[in-house]
This record gives sequence, structure tokens and C-alpha cells, in this order.
Amino acid sequence: MQQTCDLLIVGGGVMGCSIAHALATRGAGKILILEKRYLGAGSSGKSGAIIRQHYSTPLTARMAQASLRTFERFDEIVGGPPVFTRTGLAIVVAEKDRAALETNVAMQQGLGIQTKMVSAGELMGLDANVHLEADEAACWEAEAGYVEAPVVLNSWAEAARRKGAEFCEGVEVLKLHVEKQRVAGVETNEGVIATRTLILTTGPWAARLPQAVGVKLPVNACRTQVALFRKPVGMSRRSATFGDFAQGIYFKPTHGDMIHAGSIAGEEANDVVDPDHYNEAADDAFLKSIRERLSRRYPGMYRCHGRGGYGALYAITPDWHPILDRLPGIEGAYAAVGFSGHGFKMSPSVGQLMAELILDGQAASFDVSPLRFSRFEENALIKVPHSYGVMG
Ligand SMILES: Cc1cc2nc3c(=O)[nH]c(=O)nc-3n(C[C@H](O)[C@H](O)[C@H](O)COP(=O)(O)OP(=O)(O)OC[C@H]3O[C@@H](n4cnc5c(N)ncnc54)[C@H](O)[C@@H]3O)c2cc1C
Repeated sequence: MQQTCDLLIVGGGVMGCSIAHALATRGAGKILILEKRYLGAGSSGKSGAIIRQHYSTPLTARMAQASLRTFERFDEIVGGPPVFTRTGLAIVVAEKDRAALETNVAMQQGLGIQTKMVSAGELMGLDANVHLEADEAACWEAEAGYVEAPVVLNSWAEAARRKGAEFCEGVEVLKLHVEKQRVAGVETNEGVIATRTLILTTGPWAARLPQAVGVKLPVNACRTQVALFRKPVGMSRRSATFGDFAQGIYFKPTHGDMIHAGSIAGEEANDVVDPDHYNEAADDAFLKSIRERLSRRYPGMYRCHGRGGYGALYAITPDWHPILDRLPGIEGAYAAVGFSGHGFKMSPSVGQLMAELILDGQAASFDVSPLRFSRFEENALIKVPHSYGVMG
């Protein structure tokens, strides 16, 4: 392992890998990525990795839109195998939220996103498994789908390595070294490494390292759960991805005729956990509740086979939006953290934006000032104007 580097990234999740690739592509210098366990050990390796552009704010919709273009051609742009499966995405809301849904759809259409309101009959034509109640409304985003999360990380890391970046797994950063309000390096379980540029992509662990140098990052580690079900005989093999706000669940097809499903009702969002010691199993009550809700939307799933599930982590900020910024008061320190359960789909844009911020002094592709760190103390949290909920 190098003892000095130009740019040091802490955290080998999707953000660390994307930023490493973006920096290496621009020939930024000697890049070192330190990961305390293995690439994808945090949220990224367990992610549903649904790629949709359906958001309530133009900034996040545009970041997702630009990122989708990369995921669609990931093999050509980055290397490795193709990663994207297009399924289309339905957002379903209760009738009382129809106007909010229509407003969001109109905003997204204004950005060039292929989305439209659909009737129950039209939705059944797109996914024969679905049932919509009379008091529910839906829209359809044709371009959405999901990616293979571990393949994305692997391909970005491989491509960054080919451009000279070094990835070290099993190396934990224990402490940041700051001299005269400037980054000087880090202390790890394998010794000290000197650097003048540090990027934190530490996911649910984000608050820890800055706290010891006097910076309070408002990022909480919270548990979330995933349930897996095998489709029964007789159901259409073809399935769309759903953000089912009427029932507070999301689900998507996955390998082996399985459905990956989880909650979007935020039941565990206020329970802060220790990201090194949390329950990685799924609760029986959770599996039962998701199965019931899924079966109301997909009646064929009443006969499905449960395949268990798992516990994972979200890194949640007070407004459920990430922080893309410098760390205040420490020159040379940056953070891309707090993706609050919906970061995977933005990761290509995050890599590009952070490379611009670090190398050019300013993120130019989009105005990301709403995602600044100081918004929390300025009481300028991002407000979602027409929200029926948050979806990962
Ligand atoms: C179950 C689940 C489903 C999701 N579904 C979706 C979805 O459908 N669509 C979507 O867009 N997003 C989704 N998300 C969110 C998305 O996966 C995350 O926003 C994204 O993966 C965050 O990536 P990250 O790189 O910031 O963090 P992480 O992947 O958590 O990576 C952080 C890494 O930092 C390492 N680390 C921490 N501290 C240190 C240290 N001191 N030294 C060295 N290494 C350290 C950790 O080991 C970890 O590997 C989902 C998340 C979960 C958990």
C-alpha cells in the first residue's frame, strides 16, 4: 500500500468506486481507495439498485436522468458486462395523491423524461400481474429498470485500476490528521498515509471520522429490510418495477423468477443503529407484512414461495437528500454521503460532480448548491413540494 497519495477516498461503496473512476479518468494523480472490509460491504452490495428518474425535485430527477444514460451503456463507457435491465416503473398512489403525482409527472416531462399517467387498464397491458383499486392512480416511466449492484462496483473499480488507482480492502481509517485546518493524512490499522485531498464516501459510517475533528455530519445509520419471494406457477414471468406508495412498498423482479421487495414507509428511519452491529436478518413480521401488501398489488403472489430476506443499512440525513460538499473548516476534505436509501441511481452523476468540485473547484454539470453541508444549520433543508413518500 502507498504511504502517500494525491487523493485518498475512504469507503469502497458505489460512491467511492464512481468517484475513483471519475478522478482517474481525468488523470487526477495518485488515487488510493481504502475500504475497511470489502468493496460493496455497506449499503451498496445489498442495494435493490432500482434506476428511475421519478423524483419530486428537478435536481435529483436530472441527476438520475444523466446517470441512467451511463447505466444503459455501462459496458461501453466503463467496461465489463452490461449491467442494466429495463423493466419500466409504475408509481402507484392513493387517489388523494393524484394531483401531486400529476404535478411530478408534468415536471419530469418538462425535463424530457418519458413518463405519463396511466389508467388501470393501460397498466395491466404493461404488466399483466397487476391489480389497481378504483381509488388509486398510477404513472408509468418506460425507461426505468435496475442494475446489478456488485457488477457496477466491480467494473468501476477495475476501470479505475486500469487508469492507475489503487484499492486496498481490509484497511480501516481510524483517524483524520488535520494540520493548520488542512488535511494532512489519515491513520489506519496499517499505518499512516499522507495526503492533501481526502474524500469521505463512508455511507452509514459517515458521521464517525469527522466528529473527532469537530465536524458534525447529520447522517444516521438506520436499518432497512428486504424480502425475497419466488413467483408461483401461472404468473406472468414479465414484471415491472413498482413504487407502490398506496401500500408503502417497492418491488422489482430479480434473478430466478424472484421478486425483491421492501418498505418505503420508513418504519425504522428514526431508530439509529450501530452500523458495525445491527440485525442483518429479516424479521418474521416484516416478511409477513410485505407478502400481504405485495399480494394485494400482484394477486398471483398469494401463492408465492417466501425466500427469506435480510437486514441492511440506509445513511439518512434530516431531509433525505445527500451532502455533496467540502467539509467545513478543513481545507482539502470533501464528503459525498447521506444518500438516504436512493443513491445508487445517482452514482454516475455523483462521480462526475465530485471530480469537478475537487479538480475544478466547482461542480459544473449541475448546480448542487442545494446539497451543501451548511443547509442544515441555515434551516434550508430540501423541501419536496409534492411528496407521497420516499423511495429507494
Ligand atoms: C436494501 C437497500 C435497497 C436500496 N435500493 C436502492 C434502489 O433501489 N435504488 C437506489 O438508487 N438506491 C437504493 N439504495 C440506496 C443505495 O444503495 C445507497 O444510497 C448507496 O449504495 C450508498 O453508497 P455509498 O457508497 O454512499 O455507501 P456504502 O455502500 O455504505 O459504502 C460505504 C463504505 O465505506 C466503508 N467504510 C466506512 N467507514 C470506513 C472507514 N473508517 N475506513 C474504511 N472504510 C470505511 C464501509 O465498509 C462501506 O463499504 C438501497 C439501499 C439499501 C440498503
